[in-house]
Order: sequence, then structure tokens, then C-alpha cells
Amino acid sequence: MTDISCQTGVELLMDYLEGVVPEDMRTILDSHVAGCPKCTAFVASYLATPRILRDATASAMPPELQRSLLAFLRAQRGDGPRQKD
Ligand SMILES: [Zn+2]
Repeated sequence: MTDISCQTGVELLMDYLEGVVPEDMRTILDSHVAGCPKCTAFVASYLATPRILRDATASAMPPELQRSLLAFLRAQRGDGPRQKD
């Protein structure tokens, strides 16, 4: 796989932003994000949220908060557990 769609990209971006993707995949993601406003906005919002939380607490984010934030982001993506109305 040498190209990625946004759907795959968002999935990989989660890992990318967590620093757990291989170097070659980082390069692919970098080039995709650079040319994709949607993914650029996703990265910006992902990076901005923890920073705001850090400013508010003036300390490192607790692991459970990181997990719930990730769960929230995955739900926003539409791939998380959904509640039926
Ligand atoms: Zn994209």
C-alpha cells in the first residue's frame, strides 16, 4: 500500500500522533496531510485539544483522560461505539 485514503489516513493519524507508526508510514502520512485540508484540520484539532487540557490542569494528562479523549475522537470519526436513540 503506497497511497492512503482519508478514512485510512485518520486511522493511521491516531497512531501517527501517538508516535507508534513506522518511519515509512510517517512519510506517507506527512505527504497526504500536506495535501489534504481535512486531515490537516484533524491533526490541528487533535493537537489543540490536549494542549488546552494541559493549560487548564498545568500538568500531564492522566492516562485515563487520554484514553477517553481518544475514544471521543474515534467516536467523532464515526467508528466508535454508537448509542441508539
Ligand atoms: Zn485526508
